[in-house]
Amino acid sequence: MQKGTINVQTENIFPIIKKFLYSDHEIFLRELVSNAVDATQKRRTLAKLGEIPAVEGHPQVEVVINEDASTLTIKDRGIGMTGEEIEKYINQIAFSGATEFLDKYQGEEAKTAIIGHFGLGFYSAFMVSERVDIISLSQREGSEAVKWSCDGSPEFTLEPATRDEAGTDIVLHIHEDSKEFLEEDRIAGILNKYCKFMPEEIVFGTKTIQQDDPSGEQDEDGNVKQVDVEVPNVINKTTPLWTRTPADLTDEDYAEFYRDLYPMNFEDPLFHIHLNVDYPFNLTGILYFPQLKKEMELRRDKIHLYSNQVFITDNVENIVPDFLTLLHGVIDSPDIPLNVSRSYLQEDANVKKISSHISKKVADKLASMFKQDREAFAAQWDDLRIFIEYGQLTDDKFMERSKKFLLFKDTTGACQTYEELIAAVGEVQKDKNGKIVLPYTSDAKAQHGFVQPAIERGYKVLVMEGPLAAHVLQKLEQEFSDIQFKRVDSDVVDALIETDEASTSALNEEQENALKPLIEGAFPNDQYKVKFVPMSPTAAPITITRSEFMRRMKEQQAVGGGGFQMFGSLPDSYDVAINANHPLAQKLLNASEDSEKLRIAKRAVDLARLSQGLLEGEELTAFIASGYEELA
Ligand code: ADP
Repeated sequence: MQKGTINVQTENIFPIIKKFLYSDHEIFLRELVSNAVDATQKRRTLAKLGEIPAVEGHPQVEVVINEDASTLTIKDRGIGMTGEEIEKYINQIAFSGATEFLDKYQGEEAKTAIIGHFGLGFYSAFMVSERVDIISLSQREGSEAVKWSCDGSPEFTLEPATRDEAGTDIVLHIHEDSKEFLEEDRIAGILNKYCKFMPEEIVFGTKTIQQDDPSGEQDEDGNVKQVDVEVPNVINKTTPLWTRTPADLTDEDYAEFYRDLYPMNFEDPLFHIHLNVDYPFNLTGILYFPQLKKEMELRRDKIHLYSNQVFITDNVENIVPDFLTLLHGVIDSPDIPLNVSRSYLQEDANVKKISSHISKKVADKLASMFKQDREAFAAQWDDLRIFIEYGQLTDDKFMERSKKFLLFKDTTGACQTYEELIAAVGEVQKDKNGKIVLPYTSDAKAQHGFVQPAIERGYKVLVMEGPLAAHVLQKLEQEFSDIQFKRVDSDVVDALIETDEASTSALNEEQENALKPLIEGAFPNDQYKVKFVPMSPTAAPITITRSEFMRRMKEQQAVGGGGFQMFGSLPDSYDVAINANHPLAQKLLNASEDSEKLRIAKRAVDLARLSQGLLEGEELTAFIASGYEELA
């Protein structure tokens, strides 16, 4: 027997591995199974090239629990290793500079960094084992089987062993405090998470299936009897959908794969994008567009990141643009570096390219859907818009590309492109400065009192709802400099679009001066600024609005943007438009008793406030009580 010392500069590397990787202990299995899969693939490739004899049967990787012996074994029939190869690949690991490295990286960053730096692969076995044996026979002709054994200290033994067929058994003598890894359910769970799509068959346990009775015995109906047979339980699909050619796949294949990925998600995705790039980087994958509706913060079923069919993570932050994390699916790229911390990832040239490629593909897909079937695209607009808006706000290139398929929806449900919209409203809705004013509603029901008059006036009212609308408006105004959005309740309909036309007022200055204090006095405080507007006699006598500018400032302050915090909270302020041409103005002026004037003014103001949801609490109770009194 040969004894030796693993080439590690610090004696204590294993406790350190254990400590740093604590929360990720389970990945040892991914590392060992993917080594076994690699070895199996290599042997297959060599045999195909005719360099070694063909492999008999159907080599599988097998994971076996032996509870009595407290071992977990990963077996393969791959290329195996000679004693020298074990020396070379396992013993002389690049642990040099380990101490220095650990000084440099601390905490969370160290975790990702340490794996990559040391290519910890095999050594992660020591996170859960008190001893690890390797029993291997190389496929090279004339090789002798060897057994390597190490208890986690830098000392190891290497001795001859017996093994009939080329391949490797990695035997983990599971540590007392890692007994969970001897439980079938736990191992099945880990395999399902990391190994579900690895490219060689992986067997864990057996399953029972029904088969024709080999004796050919028949039942009463003359059918061959069925018998239960135990067969190896293959846990993975070796050619997952993203590795296959789109032309060979049906929509149902994609839907089924989606259910495979997200068994807990019951809604079918809207559509998918099959990614396939091999230059200048390697990337395959399938992205699904989920049904988002307005609930953007709804559980994010994350995109799964793979590297050569090995599951890496479902946290793709900094790998794909933020808005794309709303998508579901799989990305597989060996070109995404796994050995750097997240903050460095963003700066990585490949990751940048990958990220902008995906963003482009998604925009292209949306554009082609729009082109191919505009009606269907428009019908899905409510599902698509949050995603598109999110992209427009956070990715300038996407903003530019989105102009091809961006739709403006109005209160009738009709969707139009920017060009169509401008062609339809460009003249009617142009203000005196040449800007095209686009009245919109964020809630057609709540703002009905303003939506209706705007429509009656011949304006198109756009529906801009959802959590991002306020930001999107601003962004669109920057992109299309000749438009200006105004919420329908930001002014009375007559003043929504400023024109040079003056309309005639039924009130003279003296009358206005008489009415003004009366109306102002009926409001509870001085946040309400009164003005007179000559409107149609049938329009509301008093309208409370909040200017577009003030509202946007308040909204931005609410979400913490705009740099207004330093001024403290902005006060609420409202504009009050008195319809100078409404008969109520005359009635107020002509009322004989002062008390009657006050009563009418108060009632009118209360009604105006009620219609805006501005009458609350005690005042609302009093208002309703006085209404009933009038009936009595
Ligand atoms: P990596 O897989 O990243 O190279 P590992 O520490 O996991 O790092 O493995 C080191 C090397 O040991 C592998 O590159 C391979 O040559 C060899 N090896 C590990 N496991 C096996 C196996 N089951 N069969 C054959 N060779 C293996």
